Amino acid sequence: MLNLWYAKAVVLLAIIALIGIRAPHGQRSRAVAVKRSRKGTLEIVLLTIAWISFFLPLIWMVSPIVAFADYPLHPIPFMIGVLFLIIGLWLFYRSHADLGTNWSITLEVREQHQLISHGVYRWVRHPMYLALLIYSLGLAFVIPNWLAGPSYALAMFLLVLLRLMPEERMMREEFGKDYEAYMARTKRLMPGVW
Ligand code: SAH
Repeated sequence: MLNLWYAKAVVLLAIIALIGIRAPHGQRSRAVAVKRSRKGTLEIVLLTIAWISFFLPLIWMVSPIVAFADYPLHPIPFMIGVLFLIIGLWLFYRSHADLGTNWSITLEVREQHQLISHGVYRWVRHPMYLALLIYSLGLAFVIPNWLAGPSYALAMFLLVLLRLMPEERMMREEFGKDYEAYMARTKRLMPGVW
């Protein structure tokens, strides 16, 4: 059994890394005007759930409010979790770098939006969602708490499940044949599978 502080230190580092990777891209993207937004009720609900579940691990770290759902921390799941976090953060970093200012937190098309199909976007159409799924699974393994552990993974799963089709519809309407050609040569989340 491992000391809880290992998990807390890893979670803190992982959250800082995620914010640190996104912050500069978020700032740069915000400077580019939005041409068309699809931020409907569903998007607002999904984003709210994502934010709450993103902060639940922090609440677990600093307060005993969810301590009733704690269980012992074992080294094997802990190490698997750390590995997932590293892979997830790397892919998150790469997809932000490739997407550049075309990134949005929600469904939006920007002025002079470019269809990105290079870098990690050559392997799958949604590398950033894949990165967040891997990262959130990492948190689930590292945090020995039934609530704070899987919360972000559930939120990300829900977000990907409900956003993927509307996002691809939006991209097809915007880029037509180019996006259809891109769809024909790539999978959504798993190369060669789906
Ligand atoms: N689904 C992608 C991008 C997430 S960010 C991924 O998981 O990597 C969401 C925004 O990215 C969408 O609003 C859309 O405007 C933009 N987007 C999605 N795929 C894109 C692509 N291939 N090229 C350019 N922009 C894209």
